[in-house]
Amino acid sequence: MTDLTDLTSFDVIILGAGIVGSACALECVQAGLRVAVVEPSTPGGAATAAGMGHLVVMDDSPAQLALSNFSRSLWRDLSAALPDAVEYERCGTIWVAADDEEMAEVYAKRQTYAHAGIRSEILNSFDLAQQEPNLRNGLAGGLLVPEDGVIYPPAAAGFFLTSALSQGAKLLRGKAAVALNSGSVTLEDGTALAARQIVVATGSDLRLLPSLPIQKRKGHLVITDRYPGFVRHQLVELGYLKSAHKLTSDSVAFNVQPRRTGQLLIGSSRQYGKEDSAVDSSILSQMIERAQSYMPRLADLSSLRVWTGLRAATPDKLPLIGPTSDPRIFLAVGFEGLGITNAPGAARLLTDHLLGRASEIDASPFLPSRVPTLELSHA
Ligand SMILES: Cc1cc2nc3c(=O)[nH]c(=O)nc-3n(C[C@H](O)[C@H](O)[C@H](O)COP(=O)(O)OP(=O)(O)OC[C@H]3O[C@@H](n4cnc5c(N)ncnc54)[C@H](O)[C@@H]3O)c2cc1C
Repeated sequence: MTDLTDLTSFDVIILGAGIVGSACALECVQAGLRVAVVEPSTPGGAATAAGMGHLVVMDDSPAQLALSNFSRSLWRDLSAALPDAVEYERCGTIWVAADDEEMAEVYAKRQTYAHAGIRSEILNSFDLAQQEPNLRNGLAGGLLVPEDGVIYPPAAAGFFLTSALSQGAKLLRGKAAVALNSGSVTLEDGTALAARQIVVATGSDLRLLPSLPIQKRKGHLVITDRYPGFVRHQLVELGYLKSAHKLTSDSVAFNVQPRRTGQLLIGSSRQYGKEDSAVDSSILSQMIERAQSYMPRLADLSSLRVWTGLRAATPDKLPLIGPTSDPRIFLAVGFEGLGITNAPGAARLLTDHLLGRASEIDASPFLPSRVPTLELSHA
């Protein structure tokens, strides 16, 4: 049983030590708050460990563009301090256009990025083949976004958490929060904790807040053996945006990432209504076929492992960051396929809310007040 005398003296209790909760913990201690983090399992071991680690500016809505661009700049600021294990590489993204129709999207995307001050470069068919010789012939071109990058997500979450702990945060590991009330939580062993503010950062596990309109969206990833130089940038088909936007049906898209080790991560799939961790051979085959249709030589490579993870999707595809109808309960959830990218920006916005500080970007599109009122429940 934990010593309660010590545990009533926190300003903030953060539930969940995925990349989002860990980044929030670090921002909070750096802002001078006394922080406790509750994590029932391995910190960074849930969706964070399953994620691909692509740090990408996404332009699917102005709010997402602002948050992902802000977050990407925070990653860049952090990069000198990141340990080697985080494997931060500014490899850039190439959005691959298969035909002239998609090339028109490339031009539109470039304009959107230019308007937001984000550097990008149009590649014609020849340029694309020069940049990525293993792509199939005959693709129309693409858009290179050179400042996007990749990281190894569990190591990044570990960096945030250990930095927070070394600056005074306390980790309560091994017990889930099972009841949430205004300014207090109860852990599964009966320990009661109180704080001025509680932050729910439990990823797709929302048993504490069952009324939140968040759906689990299962994804598969494959990792290959080492093939240094086979792919140089994160490669994503432009159709990925359509696939990521579908809110009801299963979808796959070509999405390949070079790792520092020379390995490739191959994605991606999205499925609703599947909450188990089993590999689904049918969607996996569709995903691999899709990848090979863009990059036929992938068929010659050995894959080492396949895994799955759950994204937490809100109806408008934006995360919920900030206060709830209960002034002592705050949310940092609903990051879908962008929680690795958006963790530092979300942590900054969340801490701004906790402290009543002004934010560097417009925080209003992420406010939880846009979804139905909270209904608290025991997990
Ligand atoms: C296949 C796949 C690929 C992805 N690729 C990318 C990508 O390339 N780029 C990108 O930006 N994002 C990507 N994502 C999304 C990203 O992984 C998630 O958005 C992100 O990891 C969410 O982090 P989190 O901290 O919110 O959740 P999690 O990592 O799931 O952490 C939540 C934590 O809360 C804990 N918890 C749960 N219940 C309780 C409780 N009751 N009390 C206390 N703690 C609790 C859990 O144990 C867990 O550790 C991908 C996701 C998947 C599945």
